[in-house]
Amino acid sequence: MEKRIAVLPGDGVGKEVSRGAVSILRAVGELYGHKFQFLYGDIGGGAIDEFGTPLPQQTIDLCKASDAVLLGAVGGPKWDMLPGHLRPEKGLLKIRKDLGLYGNVRPVQYYSSISGVSPLRKEVIEGADMVVVRELTGGLYFGKPSERTMKKGEASVVDTLFYQKKEIERVIRYAFKLASSRRGKVTSVDKANVLESSRMWRETAEEVAKDFPQVQLEHMLVDNAAMQLIKNPRQFDVIVTENMFGDILSDEASVLTGSLGMLPSASVSVDGPYLYEPIHGSAPDIAGQNTANPIAMILSAAMMLRMSFGMEEEAEAVENAVIQVLDAGSRTRDIADFGNVPVTTEEMVEEIKAVLLDHEAICNIMSAYA
Ligand code: NAD
Repeated sequence: MEKRIAVLPGDGVGKEVSRGAVSILRAVGELYGHKFQFLYGDIGGGAIDEFGTPLPQQTIDLCKASDAVLLGAVGGPKWDMLPGHLRPEKGLLKIRKDLGLYGNVRPVQYYSSISGVSPLRKEVIEGADMVVVRELTGGLYFGKPSERTMKKGEASVVDTLFYQKKEIERVIRYAFKLASSRRGKVTSVDKANVLESSRMWRETAEEVAKDFPQVQLEHMLVDNAAMQLIKNPRQFDVIVTENMFGDILSDEASVLTGSLGMLPSASVSVDGPYLYEPIHGSAPDIAGQNTANPIAMILSAAMMLRMSFGMEEEAEAVENAVIQVLDAGSRTRDIADFGNVPVTTEEMVEEIKAVLLDHEAICNIMSAYA
C-alpha cells in the first residue's frame, strides 16, 4: 500500500517523539512492503517564529492532501506572552476546525509491567481498558456569546453552551460503533439533572442506542463519572461525552496508567484525514534532553495504521513490540521504578524497532535488564 502521511512535529519533545514514530513507521513499511511518504509541516511556536502564525496555510493544504496526520505537540514558555490569537495552542484549535475533526478518541489501557507508576493500587487498576470519546467541535468552548460586560459599574460574564443535535448524534454514533467492536458497553456522561443541553444529549443517546441493540447504554452524571473513574475504572468500556466534560474526564482517565508519555489519541472527521497525536504537551521541562517517552506517539502511529489505513496486523505488531519491550524491563525516566536505569528516547525507539523487525531481539533486551 502507498500512503501519504503529514508529519507536524511542533515544539519541544514533539520533535523528538515524532522522529521516533516515523522511524517505527519506516520499519513497518520495510517489514510489510508498504510505501509511506512522510511530508513535513509547521505548527505551533516554531511556525510563529518562521511564518508569524501558529498554523500556516501550507500546513493546512499539506494535511488536506494527506491520508493521515501525525502531530507531535505544540507550545512552550517562549510563546506564553503572545496575544491569544498568536499562541501556539491556537494552531491546534484551528487545525481541528479546518480538518473537521469532530471527535477525540483516547484509549486508556493498563500495562501490567508498569503498574507501579499508576497512582491507583494494582488491584483497582488491573485490567482497566477503556476509550474516552470526546466531542470536539461544540459546547462551551465554541458557543457565542463568550464575553464580559460592564453595566452600571457591575462586571458580568457569559459563556454559551451550544450544540446542534446533529453534532451530538454524530459523536454518540461513533461511540456506539466503537463499542460494537469492543466489549459492547457505552457510558454516556452528562449533567442531565441540571443542564438542558445534557437532557438533549441523553435523549439523543437513547435514540442512537435503538440502532445498536447489541450495545448496552448507561447514563452517568459527570460528577459520579469523575468518582467512578478512580473507584472502579474496570467498569468502563467506551465513555462518550461533550467537549468540556470530555476535556476534564479524559485527562483524569489518562493519569490512571501513570504517565502522560504512554497515551495515544486520534481525532476523527467525517471525510477528511484523521489526526493522531500523543495526549501530552511539548514538555518544555525535559525538551531537548532525549529523555521523553516516545510510546504515546508510537501508539498514536499504531492507531493511524489501524483506523486510517485498515492495517490491523501492522498496528498489533507495533503494540505488541511496545508491550514486549516494557515487559522486558526497559523504561524511560517517567515510568522508571526505583532501581531502574532509564533509557533515552532514542534507545526506547531502537528497542521497539528491533523487536518489530526481529523476534529474537527481545532476548537480548531481556538479558540487558535482567
Ligand atoms: P505537558 O504534557 O507538556 O507536561 C506535563 C508533565 O508531563 C511534564 O512534567 C512533562 O515533563 C511530562 N511529560 C509530558 N510528556 C512526556 C513524555 N512524552 N515523556 C515523559 N514525560 C512527559 O503539559 P504542560 O507542562 O502543562 O504544557 C507544556 C506546554 O505544552 C504548554 O505550552 C501547553 O500549552 C502545551 N500543551 C500542548 C498540547 C498539545 O500539543 N496537544 C497538550 C497539552 C499541553
